[in-house]
Formats: sequence, structure tokens, C-alpha cells
Amino acid sequence: MIQITMPLNFLGSVYREIRQALVDMGEMFDLLEQPPEVKDKPGAPDLEIKGGEVELDAVEFGYDPTRPILHGVSIRAAAGEKVAIVGPSGSGKSTIGRLLFRFYDVTGGAIRIDGQDLRDVAQDSVHDAIGVVPQDTVLFNDTIRYNIGYGKEGATFQEIEAVARAARIHDFIMSLPEGYDTQVGERGLKLSGGEKQRVGIARTLLKNPPILLLDEATSALDTETERDIQVSLKAMGVGRTVLTIAHRLSTIADSDRIVVLEAGQVIEEGRHEELLSRGGKYAAMWARQAVEEDEAA
Ligand code: ADP
Ligand code: MG
Repeated sequence: MIQITMPLNFLGSVYREIRQALVDMGEMFDLLEQPPEVKDKPGAPDLEIKGGEVELDAVEFGYDPTRPILHGVSIRAAAGEKVAIVGPSGSGKSTIGRLLFRFYDVTGGAIRIDGQDLRDVAQDSVHDAIGVVPQDTVLFNDTIRYNIGYGKEGATFQEIEAVARAARIHDFIMSLPEGYDTQVGERGLKLSGGEKQRVGIARTLLKNPPILLLDEATSALDTETERDIQVSLKAMGVGRTVLTIAHRLSTIADSDRIVVLEAGQVIEEGRHEELLSRGGKYAAMWARQAVEEDEAA
């Protein structure tokens, strides 16, 4: 007979850790919603990052072949450029994010990073190159130090502190009696939505990806906190290519380029001022949101 000698509460905590890890992955995939369906070609090389240029070239895609979702979408983000994708719900914004992660392969056209077709390189290396700040960062039942350090295997304390400063959460951590050794998570200190988001930003900074993909990354926060987090997100984008999928137009008005998507097609593209003076869909969305934000205030 097999004797179970391990204390049950130990098993319980291991179980919780595993479950939390799954939840954490689940959150990351919130943007992506489901596991990858594509397989690497045999011997596919790793993506070789030069500057982090992202190019969607006449992309056609549908989850179901009978129902196309993207119709010839072309979007280019030069290395270091900040490009926002806006458009009504269901227009295909998150789908673009999933394709960039190569959770699916395009059915027409191509997506290239630094000139390399995503279908020709190892999927893992694509994931390594792209940082995602999830809408709701899930914390492990562990110290703050662990929760930030999770972004990179073998991170030193100096590195962890540096990214915490950059994510503007260092001062908050230092105000706690146990500092970086403070236990957080459901069995420790509960962090606010904004604080959790900063931990997520710090983690992503530690991963140091050349490309950032933000899918309405701050929508779960109140306007005040969101504004504050925007400062951290902006700082994080320096020197990286940033694709932001946004609902709230006020947060992306200063992008290098704004792409307006409707029913899987790019219908307008330009800088904020250009799009406003064009008086098209973007201008209408902007006018509508200005009224809504006034009403909310
Ligand atoms: P957005 O992010 O702009 O709101 P999505 O990219 O999520 O839009 O969705 C675009 C279209 O694709 C919608 O019609 C949606 O119903 C459909 N869609 C999204 N995810 C899936 C999926 N996993 N399977 C089938 N259809 C999907
Ligand atoms: Mg979406």
C-alpha cells in the first residue's frame, strides 16, 4: 500500500501555485484567447531581431474558412515606431494581435518581423520577441521580488529593482515594512489594480522584448490610475516597437500612426491631427468619446 506522507496543506499550496501559474498563463492568453494551432516547420530557425520592424502585408484571415475576418490588412510599424490600432468592437483588432503571436497562420498575404515571415521561424522565438502587458496581472502567492523576477529566469536583485523603478512601483514597495520581501497574492498583501499592472509592466521590462503589444492594457482601471499607468507604459515603449490596440482614443492620440480598422479592413490611417481634419470615422469616434468622457467626469 502506498503511504501518503506528504502533509496535505503542503500539497494544497503546491496545487495552488500550479493553479495560479495556469491562471497567469490564462491571463496572458486573454488577448490571444486560445492555444496555438500552428506547428513550426521542421528545423525552423529562431527569429533574428534587428530593430523590431513589424509588417502585415495584405493579410487575409478567418478562424473559419467560410467566414473571412481580415480582408487585405496592411500595417507597417518601423523599428521603434508607435502604432495604434483602433476600431469598433469585432473589427478584428485582437485577431491581429493573435496573428502577430502566430497563434494562427494567415491564409493570404504575410506577417513579417524584421523581414522574416512568421511562418518560417520558431514560434517560441516570436513569443520571446514580443512583450504583452495583460489587462489584469495575476500575482503568485510569493514575494513582490519573486513576482517581478518571474519575467526573466535568473534575474538579479539589481535588475528587479531597476525595472520596479522604471515601472514606478519601487517607492511603493519600499514603503512596505518588508519591502521587496513582502508577501503578495491572495494569501498576502492585496495590491490594487494599478499596483498589479505596474508589477506586470516591471515583469515585461525584465523580459526586455523589442516589440510590445498592448491590447487595451489599461481598460480595467479607473481614469486616474490609467493616466498614471500610461506614463509607465510610455516609458516602457522607448526604444521598442509598440503596437497598441485601443478603445480609449485619448490614450493613443500621440501615436506615430493610427490605423482605423472596420470590418477587417483598414479604412483610415494617419496621425491624430490628420485623421481629425479628414472628418471621417476616426473624427466621429473622437467626438463621441469626448462627449462620453465629459459625461463620465
Ligand atoms: P476586436 O478585438 O476588434 O473586438 P476580434 O479580433 O476579437 O475583434 O474579433 C473579430 C471577429 O472575429 C469577430 O467577428 C469575432 O466574433 C471573430 N472571432 C474572434 N475570435 C474568434 C474565434 N476564436 N473563433 C471564431 N471567431 C472569432
Ligand atoms: Mg479585442
